[in-house]
Amino acid sequence: MRLEHVDNLIIGQGLAGSLLAWELIRRKRRVLVVDPPPGPADPGASRVAGGIVSPLTGRRFTKPAELESLIGSAVDLYGEIEEAFRLIVYQECPIWRLLGDDLEWAKLNKRREDPAYEPYIGEVQAAGAMGHGLADPKGSVCLHGARLDLARLLDRLRQFFQDTARLMEEPLDHNALELREGMVHYRHIRARQVTFCEGFRVLGNPWFHWAPVRPSKGEILTIGIRRELPEGIINAGKWLIPLGEGRYRLGATYERDNRDPGPTEAGRRTLLEAFSRLFLDPPEVTVLDHQAGVRPGKTDHYPVLGRHPDHPQLAIFNGLGSRGSLLAPHYARLLADHLEKGTPLPQAADARYWHDKGNAVNS
Ligand SMILES: Cc1cc2nc3c(=O)[nH]c(=O)nc-3n(C[C@H](O)[C@H](O)[C@H](O)COP(=O)(O)OP(=O)(O)OC[C@H]3O[C@@H](n4cnc5c(N)ncnc54)[C@H](O)[C@@H]3O)c2cc1C
Repeated sequence: MRLEHVDNLIIGQGLAGSLLAWELIRRKRRVLVVDPPPGPADPGASRVAGGIVSPLTGRRFTKPAELESLIGSAVDLYGEIEEAFRLIVYQECPIWRLLGDDLEWAKLNKRREDPAYEPYIGEVQAAGAMGHGLADPKGSVCLHGARLDLARLLDRLRQFFQDTARLMEEPLDHNALELREGMVHYRHIRARQVTFCEGFRVLGNPWFHWAPVRPSKGEILTIGIRRELPEGIINAGKWLIPLGEGRYRLGATYERDNRDPGPTEAGRRTLLEAFSRLFLDPPEVTVLDHQAGVRPGKTDHYPVLGRHPDHPQLAIFNGLGSRGSLLAPHYARLLADHLEKGTPLPQAADARYWHDKGNAVNS
């Protein structure tokens, strides 16, 4: 087979790998993406994700560091892809948070006094105002969020990679990858740089198994109901995302350290019970689909990226956790800048920092 020279070999076509590939192709780099055909047994986290982009998270309505830059990069990068392929994947969307108790109510009111939170907090409603049979015993608040259609985004990018001979549709065999004279040889491919974007499967990677990635399994249902609900996403810990014509995605379970990517009866039951608790009088529900995936989490809510400290021709982009849709565009750009121009990475996200930290703990 003829030798093929590329600048960047990217392992994994989830959200991390896809956006990094896009960003490098935009910079005129020769890119090849390696990913097996997606199948129902293990579709990867990105293909099952809800795609909720919430500006404030958790019961304390925490505003992530650099939120403005994260949203700016998301609007920019998703917008660029939308324009290139004439499709819509990223849309602003109200997120109705049903308040569960007095603590949430008190925390929300404190946030409302802070001008930094003003762009993200909309209408606040008293208990019972949601209507439609929803349970909002402590009231509700509308957050100004967005939704990313990950399946559509990834399908379109995969098609693009395929059409432009940039996709190798198979799992990477780590044993066949050789590091030689600052380059990487993989069968007939010679790459200047390899970036591993393997999601939780990085834990089996011979060079990056030490990455601070903690898997957490999530299950999600697609359901049909015959009741009109308020426009937007409804969130009370578990959430409902409208898909149109009475169909919703109901998610998600969260099981730390579970790496089994298959849907389970227990997951389905947990979600349907949570669905009932969203309502004072729950509507009848039909389950149309059931999926599961494993999130590549990280305890401090930053991703992990950058070059391997001993093998600079190898790099990683991982640890997007539960918020990949918001984090990935910003960090894909940071990583592309780092690989191309040596721009320093923020310490909490820098792979080198985590490698050294791990060594210090183990020595
Ligand atoms: C149920 C659920 C709900 C979620 N909801 C949301 C949400 O509402 N909002 C949000 O922002 N995030 C959500 N997430 C999290 C989101 O999915 C992740 O943050 C993000 O998708 C991670 O992307 P990734 O590319 O790092 O990993 P993945 O999507 O897992 O992609 C990894 C890719 O690497 C490939 N791969 C692995 N090993 C190899 C190999 N040896 N060779 C070649 N390819 C390989 C896999 O095939 C896969 O395509 C959710 C996750 C789950 C599971």
